[in-house]
Amino acid sequence: MAINNFLLFNLTLHLLLLLRVSSDPSRITGDVSRTPKKFLEYAKSPEVLDWMVRIRRRIHENPELGFEEFETSKLIRSELDLMGAKYKYPVAVTGVVGYIGTGEAPFVALRADMDALPMQEDVEWEHKSKVPGKMHACGHDGHVAMLLGAAKMLQEHHQDLQGSVVLIFQPAEEVFAGAKKMLKEGALNHVEAIFGIHLTNRVPFGKTASRAGSLLAGSGFFEAVITGKGGHAAIPQHTIDPVIAASSVVLSLQHLVSRETDPLDSKVVTVSKVHGGNAFNVIPDSITIGGTLRAFSGYSKLQQRVKEVITKQATVHRCNASVNLTPEGKGAVPPTVNDMNLHKQFKKMVRELLGEESFVEASPVMGGEDFSYFAEAIPGHFSFLGMQDETESYASGHSSLYRVNEAALPYGAAMHASVAVQYLKDKASEVHDEL
Ligand SMILES: [Zn+2]
Ligand SMILES: [Zn+2]
Repeated sequence: MAINNFLLFNLTLHLLLLLRVSSDPSRITGDVSRTPKKFLEYAKSPEVLDWMVRIRRRIHENPELGFEEFETSKLIRSELDLMGAKYKYPVAVTGVVGYIGTGEAPFVALRADMDALPMQEDVEWEHKSKVPGKMHACGHDGHVAMLLGAAKMLQEHHQDLQGSVVLIFQPAEEVFAGAKKMLKEGALNHVEAIFGIHLTNRVPFGKTASRAGSLLAGSGFFEAVITGKGGHAAIPQHTIDPVIAASSVVLSLQHLVSRETDPLDSKVVTVSKVHGGNAFNVIPDSITIGGTLRAFSGYSKLQQRVKEVITKQATVHRCNASVNLTPEGKGAVPPTVNDMNLHKQFKKMVRELLGEESFVEASPVMGGEDFSYFAEAIPGHFSFLGMQDETESYASGHSSLYRVNEAALPYGAAMHASVAVQYLKDKASEVHDEL
C-alpha cells in the first residue's frame, strides 16, 4: 500500500512536471516542425527577445559600411561560439557562414546582411549611432539579430533537424557586391534553397509580404561625363556648350521608358544628379550626370540604350561623352525572383506561425537587393517583415529618421527557424515517399 501510494505520488509529480515544461515557452519539446508557434513563443520570451534587442542595439551603435563589418562579424562569431554552432570565416572579407544540424544534406540557407549606410542618424535615442556619418538605416542590424535568434533556437533543437541549416551573414549588400563575392567563395556550395527576410515599414506589424516570381527589380547605376569647350557665356559661338548637350541627354533618356518600353513592363530611368559649372558668365568645359536604371526584364538592353542615347545626343551637340555603367565599382544586380515552390512553402509556414490573415500578397517593387545573386544561383525566396505601427509611425528605409520596431525581431527569428525546419522536413518526406 505504502509503495503503491509512493508510486502514485511519483507519477503525479512527473505528470505535473511534464505539464509545466511543455507550457513553458522557454522550452520546446518534441518534434519542433509540428509546432512552429512554439518558435514564436520562445522568440518572444524575455530570454531570447532581450538578447536579440541587445545585439541589435550594439550593432546599431557601431555601424560599419560594406566589407568593413569587422566588429559586427566578430560579435556574430562570438554569439555562434557561445551557442556551440560551427562556422566558416572569413568568407568575402567579413562574411560568416554558420552550420547547424546533421552536417549532411539537404542544406537550406537563411541569409542576413550586415552593412550600414554612409549617412548621419537624426534619431535622438539612447543607442544612436556612435559613428558620425554612418547609420544602420535599412534594418540590417535587426536582420543580424533575427538570424542569430533563429540560430539559437535551431541550435537548441539541432537533434531534431533532418539535414543542415546554413546561416549566411553577408557583407556589403548596400553596394550590391557582398552576395556575389560570397557566392564566388563557395558560401552556397551544396545548398539547395535560400530564404531572406527584410524588415519594412510598408507592411503592418505582425504581417509579412511576398509574392511568387519577380519581387524586386534588376538595378544599377550610370554616370556620364559630357565634354565640350568652355568659354565666355556672352560669346557662345566660340564655345561648345555641354550644358545644352546634357539637357538634351536628360530629356532624351526619358523616352527610353515612355516610348521604347511596353507600358505593361515596368522600367525606370532616373537622372538623379547633374553637376557642372560654377559661374554666371562662364560656360563650363564639361557636365557630369548620373542616375539609376531599374527593370524586371531587358536590363542589359536598357543599359545599352542609355549609353547610345548619351553618346549620340552629345554628338548632335558637338560634344563627347564617356559613360560608366559601374560608377564607384557599383555593378548592376539582377531582379529578385522568388521560386514558386519555395513561395508556397513560405506562405503555408507564415499562416501556421502568424495566423491566416498574416500573409500579404506583395506587389513588385522597383527597389533592388543583392539577394538576387543567391536566388539566381539556386532557388531562393525573399520576403518583407512588417513593422509599421499605427500609433508610432516608422520611417522608410534609407531615411535618417529610420527606426526598427524591435517587437518585430521575434517574428523574423521564428520565421527563419520555422521555414528552415519545414524545408528540411518536406525534403525528408520526399525522400521517404520515393523509397
Ligand atoms: Zn538598403
Ligand atoms: Zn536592406
